[in-house]
Amino acid sequence: MFDSLSGRLTGVFDRLRQRGTLGEADVTEALREVRLAMLDADVALPVVKDFTAKVRERALGAEVLSAISPGQQVAKIVNDVLVEQLGGAGAVPLNLAATAPVPVLMVGLQGSGKTTTSGKIALRLASRERKKVLLASLDTQRPAAQLQLAQLAERAKVASLPIVAGQTPTQIAERAMETGRREGYDVVILDTAGRLSIDAALMDEVRAIRDITRPAETLLVVDAMTGQDAVQTARAFNEAVGVTGIVMTRMDGDSRGGAALSMRQVTGAPIKLTGSGEKLEALEEFHPERIAGRILGLGDIAGLVEKASEHFDEEEAEKLASKMMRGKFDLDDYATQLRQIGKMGSIDNILGMLPGMGKVREQLAGANIDTSILKRQAAIISSMTKAERKTPDIIKASRKKRIAAGSGSTVQEVNKLLKQFDDMSTMMKRMNKLGTKGLMRQGLG
Ligand code: GDP
Repeated sequence: MFDSLSGRLTGVFDRLRQRGTLGEADVTEALREVRLAMLDADVALPVVKDFTAKVRERALGAEVLSAISPGQQVAKIVNDVLVEQLGGAGAVPLNLAATAPVPVLMVGLQGSGKTTTSGKIALRLASRERKKVLLASLDTQRPAAQLQLAQLAERAKVASLPIVAGQTPTQIAERAMETGRREGYDVVILDTAGRLSIDAALMDEVRAIRDITRPAETLLVVDAMTGQDAVQTARAFNEAVGVTGIVMTRMDGDSRGGAALSMRQVTGAPIKLTGSGEKLEALEEFHPERIAGRILGLGDIAGLVEKASEHFDEEEAEKLASKMMRGKFDLDDYATQLRQIGKMGSIDNILGMLPGMGKVREQLAGANIDTSILKRQAAIISSMTKAERKTPDIIKASRKKRIAAGSGSTVQEVNKLLKQFDDMSTMMKRMNKLGTKGLMRQGLG
């Protein structure tokens, strides 16, 4: 995400870092690059103008600090203004303070990820906040829409409103709220129909549903990949029904990112959540300061740590660590480790959060590296016998052939996995010998 913007800004600041003092000409040059990079990333023009004007004002007015280089100083100002533009520090939580059942209205264009996001939010509220959630699809346009939401509800282990054929969206909305009250639901998520583009009939329908349900949150779901169009969509929905929060989906893709920068300013509504994959777990809180850090190539360490702690089973990790230290790590343990990494999302996603990894990610993009490799390796391991997993040394040619056939892979892939495991074991043995302190002295820790 934001790769091009991040790369260009990093270039500007690298050049500035080589200079001694910062004059008006430097600021102007830096801002020209910033402006180009932002336009390139599909940030709306008025937003770019406003942004660079703010940075200029602060950069020229700022006292030159001796402790940091002028480039760093401008970088900091750009970062500060970016964070402000993205909505200030900290994530804005969903507002569910109203009397139960709290209606949450999901709006957006068809294909934006509205239905998927409804399922993701339901899962999050049910599993993290122990809320009793009812999902209701008001989409009578697409024949399969109501069924799709029912299936998502099943996966998220939440309830969905029974489908009654022939009802209009407003009738379904009424029934959903009525069911919510009668059966004691905390939250009712109303997934409205989308259109391929904004039209008057869609807006009238959404307005009617809003008036019936009086939602505590009206969440606009937009696809981050649509760039400038997302801004137009946001403006139209906001004018028609009043948006209280934005969810940006497909942040895992090669999104232009400019949409995030423009969105808040155009609508005044905060981006509350972001989607980063098709899985129901792929929903994150939107942290302006982290996104700004990513834009500037500083990395999203805080995000990475949060993701790791969310998905990493600490007990399991400790068990693995202690096995490693005792030199008892086997292929079963290796498979467990693969699963844990898999749960953290795509490798691309993880790399994107690391400082300085933008370039590596670009290079990897063509290689199409993703968690499917982890899954293949896990499949290979599960085709082994218990004895093979405990003592990989016994796996010779004929066993390799059998394992490859059993897991739908090749002998080369089996070899690669064994080699990786072998490298890891050697490394661990060395760690054991040296002890952690010795390793650090060697600069390997
Ligand atoms: P709707 O028409 O707005 O309800 O869109 P859907 O929820 O049916 O989503 C359309 C497609 O986008 C589906 O294939 C989803 O799996 C996919 N999708 C939704 N959110 C994301 C996301 O954050 N990342 C990715 N990569 N795909 C997503």
